[in-house]
Amino acid sequence: MKVVDFRSDTVTQPTPAMREAMAAAKLGDDVFGDDPSVNALQQAVAERLGFEAALFMPTGTQSNLAALLSHCQRGDEYIVGQFAHTFRWEGGGAAVLGSIQPQPLNHQPDGTLSLAEVEANIKPDDVHFARTKLLTLENTIGGKVLPLAYLAQASALALKHGLARHLDGARLFNAAMAAGGEPYAAAREITQHFDSVSVCFSKGLGAPVGSVLCGSAGFIQQAKRWRKMLGGGMRQGGILASAAHYALDHHVARLADDHALARRLAVGLQGLDGVTVEAPQTNIVFVDVAGPQAVGVLAHLKSRGVLATGLYKLRFVTHLDVSEADVDQAIAAMREFFAG
Ligand SMILES: *Cc1c(COP(=O)(O)O)cnc(C)c1O
Repeated sequence: MKVVDFRSDTVTQPTPAMREAMAAAKLGDDVFGDDPSVNALQQAVAERLGFEAALFMPTGTQSNLAALLSHCQRGDEYIVGQFAHTFRWEGGGAAVLGSIQPQPLNHQPDGTLSLAEVEANIKPDDVHFARTKLLTLENTIGGKVLPLAYLAQASALALKHGLARHLDGARLFNAAMAAGGEPYAAAREITQHFDSVSVCFSKGLGAPVGSVLCGSAGFIQQAKRWRKMLGGGMRQGGILASAAHYALDHHVARLADDHALARRLAVGLQGLDGVTVEAPQTNIVFVDVAGPQAVGVLAHLKSRGVLATGLYKLRFVTHLDVSEADVDQAIAAMREFFAG
């Protein structure tokens, strides 16, 4: 039986063509700035996303942390969503390692933070308070795309109060592809509203490892110092950067296929008793399974060769290594469970 892995878009294996690009990569010592493949990737990402400079990072977590450390000092504060990766899923790194206080806010149903609430939580210049320095958003957030008009308003609010703006764009290109149009132009429509953006290449883009942080030349200079301190100075990093560069050139437009597979899955799960499916905007399908029926569903799926996760709701993520037949296998396993 084939095992289909919907747990995350991080599970993708590098394709044969990507491995060839890795094998052929020209390498140097990137801590000396000598790796041509790392330099080429950084330049390409900076250009295509509309920034002065970029920095190749081992993980998205380290990329976000280096960004927060570069924007904020000890005793500063960042405003962030309760379910944002930079607050909930990064071990509290900004607070633990940076002495940067998070100000988490609840999300609205569309994933946005209420701008009235953001404004109300910007602290006045007063010795009682941490200094509010940064607004951090995430796009996509829980598979949802933040509206462009919202990004413009959030950006204007941050600028009005002198806050820097960071985007955790782990799945930036999913948001761009969902918006339609030329992918890099669509991505720049989003990134133009931020001072720094972190993009993951190890998610739906299908590279084995790596993220890229973008910003001004001065900002990236600071982030580079933090990256070294955090242990992220990689030597012949080009072997990994070449995989990310291959993904940048060849795997962005195909994210639309993942979105179509997610829609196929959501449609296939409609009409099951006690099961509520949210219409997916990108490559993540959340399924609410009521009460006692929830018990055992993950184990049943696993017995049928379908891996998913279920921390808050059942979550299925489509990616490079999932086909229409694989989606149909998941639908059949779910139908079997809920019919029984
Ligand atoms: C995956 C992810 C990251 C970074 O994760 P790493 O596993 O550290 O690369 C950051 N933000 C979001 C929204 C993510 O989904």
